[in-house]
Formats: sequence, structure tokens, C-alpha cells
Amino acid sequence: MNPARLAIINEEGKAVIHLDILDSQANLQDVLDAWQPLCDDRTIYKTYARGHYDACRACTSNCCDAADVTPDLISFQKMAVTLKIDGLSLLQQYCDPVSRQEGLIRLKSGPCVFLHHRQCTVYPVRSLLCRFYICTELSASTQDLIYRISLAGAAATQFFAVESGWLDEAARPETGFDLMFWNYMHQFKQHPAIDAFLRAANYQDIPAALFQKESNKACFIQAQSHI
Ligand code: SF4
Ligand code: SF4
Repeated sequence: MNPARLAIINEEGKAVIHLDILDSQANLQDVLDAWQPLCDDRTIYKTYARGHYDACRACTSNCCDAADVTPDLISFQKMAVTLKIDGLSLLQQYCDPVSRQEGLIRLKSGPCVFLHHRQCTVYPVRSLLCRFYICTELSASTQDLIYRISLAGAAATQFFAVESGWLDEAARPETGFDLMFWNYMHQFKQHPAIDAFLRAANYQDIPAALFQKESNKACFIQAQSHI
């Protein structure tokens, strides 16, 4: 049985999706395996889906049109393998050059560089931000958990790129959310959750417990926005 499980709970008078992690040995792959069926689920309300009840693959107001995605490090490395290029080429060909000058790795967007004919061309290796985004109501603790996982993964990509000499360590955004994100990443560079991404080859290698609030509540911002 998967040690991570989805449930519908009542929170402040609303039915919301809630992710439970039942076992301290659970890893990020367990979390993703529990989460994936939401995309195909036609029984839950999705704000932007056709008729509000449809699978994500049928969606025409696709979130990939406007997503700003910093890939987590596992996804970044697997995308490079899938595209048969190295990490630097992935950065040069598929990431936004302006963001890179400002010290941030971000896929070219508007629409996402990997969206072709309304389909994601890197779907099996898409980033955690893409996997976790769902336009339905989530419990507060579930939002918190998935943002902490996604942001730690994205920060690991940034540090990996700096260590590889692909990103200027001194570059930084000037204002706004980008600057907040950059500051957050640098403030928590030594955090074990980011280190776990830097050392892992797969999501199975990363303990889910690293992201549960009790273990690091002082160390992660609670993000307010989605992708
Ligand atoms: S999560 Fe994205 S793809 Fe899925 S229904 Fe919502 S907008 Fe469409
Ligand atoms: S990588 Fe795929 S899922 Fe993510 S925004 Fe791009 S097209 Fe959408």
C-alpha cells in the first residue's frame, strides 16, 4: 500500500483535497504516485477544466500557457537525458535568457517551451511544479507541503547550475517575487531538503519527512501563489 494517500476532507466548511503521509519512511515518489491520479480524475471540481469536471489532458485553458517553471533538479537532469543533450544545452536552448541573466533558471514560457499541440512533450519527466499544480481546492497543510517540495527542488537546480558554472552566482533579480524567491533560496542553501535533491538520482531517494512541517517549519516560506 502506498504510504501516501489522498482524501477529501472538510476544512472551514469546504470540501478540499488533502494529502496524508502515513509512514515516516515514505519518499517523494510515493507522494507523486498518490498525487498523479488527480490529473485524470473527472469527478473533482477543477476551476479551468472543461465543464469543471474533466481530465487535465483534455484541458483547453491549459495552465502550461502561462506557467513560470523552474524545474527541480531531478526533473532538470531527466529532461536533459530525454532530450539527449547536456544540462548546459538544456539551459541554453530551453530556458529563458533574461531570467538566467538575473540569476534564475526558468523554462521559456508563454506558452511553455515544451507545450506542443496542447501537449507536454516532456510529460513523464516534467517538473514538480507541473506535477503538483492542480486548479482545485487543497487543504492548507497540503498546499504547504507541495510548495516546500517544489521550492526545495527548484533551489537545488539553481545551486547545481552555479556550481557547474552555468549561472552567475552574483546575478540576482532586482524586485518582486523573483527577488523574494532568489533570497529564499540563498537563505536556506544549507537546508537538508535542498541537499537531498543535490545528492539524489531519483525521487525515491528523497525522504518525504524532510518536507513535513514539524521537521523544518522555520526553514520554508509558505508560498502564496501557484506556478
Ligand atoms: S490543472 Fe491545468 S491542465 Fe488541469 S484542468 Fe487545471 S488548468 Fe487545466
Ligand atoms: S513542462 Fe510540460 S507540464 Fe510543465 S509547463 Fe511545460 S508543457 Fe506544461
